[in-house]
Amino acid sequence: MHKKLFIPGPVEVRPDVLEKMSMPMIGHRSKDASAIQRRISDNLRKLFYTNNEILLSTTSGSGLMEGAVRSCTAKRAAVFAVGAFGKRWYEMATSNNVPADLFESEWGKPTTPEMVDEVLATGKYDLITVTHNETSTGLMNPVDEIAEVMKKYPEVVWCLDAVSSAAGSKIEVDKLGVDICITSTQKAIGLPPGMAMCTFSEKAKLRAEKVEHRGTYLDLLALYKYIQKKDYQYPSTPSLSHMFALDYQLDRIINVEGLENRFQRHKEMAEVVRAWAREHFEVFPDEKYLSNTLTNIKNTTDLSVADLNKKLGERGFQISNGYGKLKDKTFRIAHMADCQMEDIKELLSVLDEILGF
Ligand SMILES: *Cc1c(COP(=O)(O)O)cnc(C)c1O
Repeated sequence: MHKKLFIPGPVEVRPDVLEKMSMPMIGHRSKDASAIQRRISDNLRKLFYTNNEILLSTTSGSGLMEGAVRSCTAKRAAVFAVGAFGKRWYEMATSNNVPADLFESEWGKPTTPEMVDEVLATGKYDLITVTHNETSTGLMNPVDEIAEVMKKYPEVVWCLDAVSSAAGSKIEVDKLGVDICITSTQKAIGLPPGMAMCTFSEKAKLRAEKVEHRGTYLDLLALYKYIQKKDYQYPSTPSLSHMFALDYQLDRIINVEGLENRFQRHKEMAEVVRAWAREHFEVFPDEKYLSNTLTNIKNTTDLSVADLNKKLGERGFQISNGYGKLKDKTFRIAHMADCQMEDIKELLSVLDEILGF
């Protein structure tokens, strides 16, 4: 039996979107391939509220995260982490011989504009990484406030991990001044895993030109140049199946559902799950910074999350345990992509039945 996924990626994929993954192949050097990549890029510009170029990568989101920190750090990277995914960016930097320092917040607490200001005021850094929506803690960072501080540091390239929030929460890339905003297919966009997408500013491009060792496959400048030279194509063979599905899904998101409606639906689902969590447990992160795409719930009654998931599984549902050190201390319910309010209500009523609420 298929278990309906309420985990923070991969997510349930609509049957019509899934069907696009099995379309017949086309040549990746054809005009049709260019047309698809151009359409995807135009629609991603709308999704991210940007005029910047869009890069695609046949990797998951981690690929572009690694590529960004390596391709665009000339001096030293300041990595701001609010959980496991933020920290991963630090490991990517150091393992690529990119000088970096890690600035961690306590899990459940945000990266504050004061922290960013204090770190950048040293003048030691020319790139920062920030997590927009931290999936390990269920926290959404105050990027509007961070953006105000970033205005003081026009020479610093700002990389933003929006892997678990893009298409679920509004992220206005140009207004914020984000240089590289990264996401991947298997979270709020609602596709199977296997492709990553990012925005790429002029500032990021100029920086990459100054970095000597950018690698090859994950060199963001190489991806950018190929788009210019070959009219929206990819240096190697991209996952065309993902591109067919992404092209279709972005059109649905923007022209059928509408971006504002989609963001609103995510907010409403989040509010329902939070209310349920507060009634029976507690929400884990600081209440001022709650994610709209997943809710991380404190396991205040010491229930066995494994046991709960087993019982859910027998009924055709799956949620997620806590991440890493929070494994049994919290559990997570994702409400992202094309998950609807009735799916959430169905899940919560099954949870009520299992837990005797
Ligand atoms: C899932 C996730 C990642 C990793 O993305 P992949 O597509 O699995 O490589 C990075 N950051 C956040 C916040 C995530 O939720």
